[in-house]
Amino acid sequence: MAFFVTPLRAYSLVANNAYKWETGQTLKVLFLDGNMAEQKAVISAFKVWLNYINLNVEYYTEANKDEFYDIRVTVKPNFDSSRIGKEAHQIAQDQPTLTLGSAKILSAYFDTTNAKKKEAQGTLLHEVAHALAFQHEHQHPNFPYEWKRQFIEEVCINRLVRAYKKIKTDKSPAEIEQTIEDSCDRDFSKFTPEEVTASDIFDERSIMTYEAPSSAFINGAGIDRHNKLSAADREWAAKIYPF
Ligand SMILES: [Zn+2]
Repeated sequence: MAFFVTPLRAYSLVANNAYKWETGQTLKVLFLDGNMAEQKAVISAFKVWLNYINLNVEYYTEANKDEFYDIRVTVKPNFDSSRIGKEAHQIAQDQPTLTLGSAKILSAYFDTTNAKKKEAQGTLLHEVAHALAFQHEHQHPNFPYEWKRQFIEEVCINRLVRAYKKIKTDKSPAEIEQTIEDSCDRDFSKFTPEEVTASDIFDERSIMTYEAPSSAFINGAGIDRHNKLSAADREWAAKIYPF
């Protein structure tokens, strides 16, 4: 009997073609809130990426109504989320496009000695990558694993319950279901090859993977959590926004 082994392949640093910034562009980032330590933690995350990509960032702590800000940051909510690159332009100027609740855990600069801080650091690097138009590795058109629907639903329900504590009283069951479905689709569904630019080098160490146990998949092993940019993340960031 023939026995075929499919090589395990994943993809690192999937860039969304529609939402990618212009190479060399200067992004204006406005802090809507946060103390100096929290803002410095966010800036540290941008700085890590800016070592590898040809984009510039200017930071502002006060809004000037005549100015247009590409990315608006809030650190107040207790969750982390980001619009994808230029998608932020579709959001009203007084609304956040990058939510970094984890910044509260970090004190000004990244600290790799404390486990909780390390995770918060990883979260900031991941969310800032979304703001730079990078998508999840597991959304690559050829991502080889197949998620179990139950796992996706659990992730999304937990996330929504955390983010919107009042969801059960504020929304109808149909609305809750729709919100969960939209959230799941946004973070787990695959892109078509035309929608993205991506590496084809296997790299399960990408900062853009979700941590998941083997039980999350119909096929395939689990994915570990990573809090640092992988070598392929750095390499592909530089290819997508070259100097
Ligand atoms: Zn993400």
